[in-house]
Formats: sequence, C-alpha cells, structure tokens
Amino acid sequence: MTTNQRFNVAVLPGDGIGLEVMEPAVEVLKAVQAKLGGFELSFSDHECGAGLYKKTGDALPQDLVEKIGAADAMLVGAMGLPDVRYPDGREITPQVDLREIFGLYGGVRPAKALKGVPPVLADPRAADIDFVLIRESTEGLFVGRKKAERIGNEIARDTMEITRNTSEKLFHFSYQLAQQRKAKGKPGRLTCVDKANVLGSTAFFRQIFDEVGEQYPDIERDYGYIDAVAMNFVKKPWTYDVLVTENMFGDILSDLAAGLIGGLGFAPSADIGDRQAVFQPCHGTAPDIMGQGKANPTATILSAAMMLDWLGETHDLQACRDGAALIDNAVADAFATGGLKSFELGGEAGTRAIADAILERIA
Ligand code: ATP
Ligand code: MG
Repeated sequence: MTTNQRFNVAVLPGDGIGLEVMEPAVEVLKAVQAKLGGFELSFSDHECGAGLYKKTGDALPQDLVEKIGAADAMLVGAMGLPDVRYPDGREITPQVDLREIFGLYGGVRPAKALKGVPPVLADPRAADIDFVLIRESTEGLFVGRKKAERIGNEIARDTMEITRNTSEKLFHFSYQLAQQRKAKGKPGRLTCVDKANVLGSTAFFRQIFDEVGEQYPDIERDYGYIDAVAMNFVKKPWTYDVLVTENMFGDILSDLAAGLIGGLGFAPSADIGDRQAVFQPCHGTAPDIMGQGKANPTATILSAAMMLDWLGETHDLQACRDGAALIDNAVADAFATGGLKSFELGGEAGTRAIADAILERIA
C-alpha cells in the first residue's frame, strides 16, 4: 500500500481581486485532488500585502517569510493597493520581495491561445499562439529598485546587473523547459531576448546563453533583440516556442504576451528558484473592479495547474502532472464550449460563472 504524498501549500490571497480569484483556485485544486487521488494538498492561509501593512506596518513579516518558505509551494493572489504606500512613496509589492528573498530567478509566463476567447490578432494563426516567456526575476534592471541614484536634481540613474551565477541557472532551467516541451511535440527552440548590440550587460547575458547552450545540442538556439521581438509578438507570435530574457524586458514582454491571449485575466505565472516556487496570476489587484465579482479567475486557476505540474516534476509524481493536465483541459473546454465571455472582454461572465464552468468539467 502506498500512501499519498502530502504537500503543504502556503496560500497568500493578498489584496483586492487577489482575494476573489484565490477562492476558486483553491476549490479547483481540492476538486482535482478528490477526483484523482495520488497526492494530498494541505492549505494554510496567510495574510500578506497592503491590507496587512495598513494594520501592522509590515507587509511581509519575517516570521511569515520563514513559514511560507518551509511550505512545498506558495500560491499567491495579488498584492498592493494604490492608496497604501511605504513612507518613501514606493508601492507595496511583497510579490517582488518574495522573488528576491527566495532567489526565484525563473519567471515562467506561458501564453497559450484558448479556443472561445476572441483573439486579439486578426490572423487565423493567432489561434496557434503557444509560447513560454521566461523572465529572469531577481536582477537585471530591477537591482536598483530600492536605490535609484540621483545626482542633485539633474541626473537619475538605475543599474542593470547580470550575474554569471544567476544567468547559468536561468539558462539551464530554460533549456530544460524547452526539452520538456520538445518531448511533447513542440519545436525545441529557445530564443534569447536581449539588446546585445547596445548593452554590454545583455551581451554578457547572450554569451552565457551560448556557453550553457553547448550542453543542450538538441535545442535550437535563436536570438532576438528586444525591440524586434516586441514587433514579432504582434506580427507572428505563433512562431515562438520558449524565450528567455532579462527582468525588465521580461516584465514588459509578459504584459504584451498576456494581451495577445485575451488579457491579464488569462495569464498565469510561476516564479521558480532552486528550492522554493511561487505561483500567481500575472495581474495586479485591479482596484477598479474589486468587490464586484467581475475578476476573471482563469489566470490564478492556470497558475494552480502550473503548481501541480511543478510538484509533479520535482517529486516525480505522475498524479500531480495528471492533475495539472486535468485543470488545463477543463479551462480549455470551459471556454471552448461554455459560451463564457469575461467582463474584461466586454462580456458578463464573472468570477463565479467562470469558476463553476471549470469546476463542472473537473467533476
Ligand atoms: P500591478 O501594478 O500590480 O501590475 P496594474 O496597475 O498594472 O497592477 P492590474 O491590477 O493588473 O494593473 O490591472 C490592470 C487592468 O486589467 C485593470 O483595468 C484591471 O481591471 C484589469 N484586470 C487585471 N486582472 C484582471 C482579472 N483577473 N480579471 C479582469 N480584469 C482584470
Ligand atoms: Mg502591471
């Protein structure tokens, strides 16, 4: 008799619509566990973000960092509110702090077109959009976010930092992801997105991309300058397989990628490190629609699927991988056959309607 492998999931709903989209995501995970068995999830809820800061003056307390860091995975909603800020005016963004604290260098942002979600691009090939953007999430142009340099009232400067250590890990991770996709019939191509012709830091990034690539002869190495890739995302995004880039370039490109597949409500993400990983939708707390039941929970539900897939990969547990596939298929079918049009696309399907359509297909 084998016993189910048990995973502790730290749940941090956060603020705004984070709270609204987390509830159905946890419901979906519980439904998958009940349906498939083979693994067991136990959830612990934690308050974190702007709401907590308002109450206690600390958005991400140290004891919470220790608690959630010891969990098997972290599932995060969205954090920060426009009217709650640190005394220096910076926004409250514990989700960014988590990436730095736990060294979550691999920001995985899949963009896959869903049938039934009206494509943004007129070209019929837009239905074939299926790429993964990997955004380095701990350094690059974000290293200066707490210490932008000001020289009097005349000059301001940020620093772009690329390290060999993080880049090597990032590229191994990226090539391996391209290999996993290749095993499932994808092209097996990894595109390095940089500005190597202008910025020495990203020329170094590209150099390490090539060095690490020598160990992955089965993966085709491809290169694109950030400006050209931005244009190609609009002209022919269906040609991409896996892309890897620096933090700020990835921040911008991932919003563009989300736009291509219907909007932020459809864009999941994972931030992966050597030991920990955070799974969360790409979107923010959307104060303009919070409390109205209009938030699209799809991004968070797909992030929960990524969490199961990662648990399956890192623990070699097929039941978890199957759970991820079950969620992906339920989401795809809900939109393909459910006649759902989310509020962000001008329709009337709110959080509950979308969640119920997905849950129905899992049961
Ligand atoms: P952040 O600074 O945290 O990235 P942001 O200000 O860029 O946040 P979001 O909170 O992501 O913005 O919202 C951007 C727009 O997208 C808003 O109009 C919001 O209503 C919409 N939006 C974001 N997430 C969703 C969702 N899940 N469902 C529907 N609309 C959403
Ligand atoms: Mg944003």
